[in-house]
Order: sequence, then structure tokens, then C-alpha cells
Amino acid sequence: MVYAFLLMMNEPIASDPARRTGDRGGVIAVTTDSDCLFCKIVAGDVPSEKVRDSERTYTFRDINPQAPTHVLVIPKDHHPDVGSLAASDPGLLGEVVRECAAVAADEKLDAGHRVVFNTGAGAGQTVFHVHAHVLGGRPMTWPPG
Ligand code: AMP
Ligand code: ZN
Repeated sequence: MVYAFLLMMNEPIASDPARRTGDRGGVIAVTTDSDCLFCKIVAGDVPSEKVRDSERTYTFRDINPQAPTHVLVIPKDHHPDVGSLAASDPGLLGEVVRECAAVAADEKLDAGHRVVFNTGAGAGQTVFHVHAHVLGGRPMTWPPG
């Protein structure tokens, strides 16, 4: 179930940047899903290895890396997949993609890197909170499996 909360700035949750997803004139909007693993990571309720943190995005290492660099970039707001994020908040999708480029630069993936949004169970999506996989540090074959 998806919940949208409006929280006053002086509530304790508002002091935690990981819980803030967009300031709107003294009121902070947080959209989260109580059953979502990545919402729990954003909230700090499930541990993760942080790589980057911006106001509206969070980047952490994949627990089962498929390349020397394998990180996940997510919006802090809950959106199920890249298409629904593009439809409801294209600016935030732009921020996610910019964070992908930033982490590729941070990790010196000069030979190239791959950005993947698995979309739908048939394409291998297992966590239905949109995430960009950023993979690099080894040759990438095509087509992917
Ligand atoms: P996808 O299969 O495209 O939905 O990608 C989900 C990714 O999340 C997989 O690559 C998993 O290895 C990764 N993953 C699952 N649980 C965690 C976790 N607790 N911390 C970091 N990565 C995770
Ligand atoms: Zn979520």
C-alpha cells in the first residue's frame, strides 16, 4: 500500500535528510510504501552501503554485485518503475540519471558503464521501487542475458 504523508518541518522526521523528499514552503512531502525494501533503505530501517546522497536521491552498493562497480540509484520517493517515474515526476528521473553519471565519474568508469532499469518481472525487476543499476569496471557484452 502506498502512503503520501505531509509532515511539518519541525517534526523529528524532517530533520533526517534521508526522509525528506521535497520541500514545499515549510511542509515536506514524503511518499513511501510501508512494504517496500528500498523505502526502508531510504528511511535507514534496513542497512545499506551509501555511495552518494542528494536531497531527492540515494545511491548505494548492490548487495549482489554483478561487476566491480555495481550501485543502485533510487529516488527517495516511492515510484514502482521508470515509466511511472517519468510520467509523474520527469525532473526527478533527470536527477536519478544525473546521479548515475556522477557515480560513474566518482568511480572512474572511464572505459564506459551501463545504466539499466529493469522494468517488470519478465525483465528481471524484483524490487518495485524504481532503481537504476550502474555497472562498470569490466567489459560489458551485448546483448545482455
Ligand atoms: P532488480 O532485480 O532490477 O529489481 O534489482 C534489484 C537489485 O537489488 C538486485 O540487484 C539485488 O541484488 C539488489 N538488492 C536486493 N536487496 C538489497 C539490499 N538489501 N541492499 C542492496 N541491494 C539489494
Ligand atoms: Zn519504495
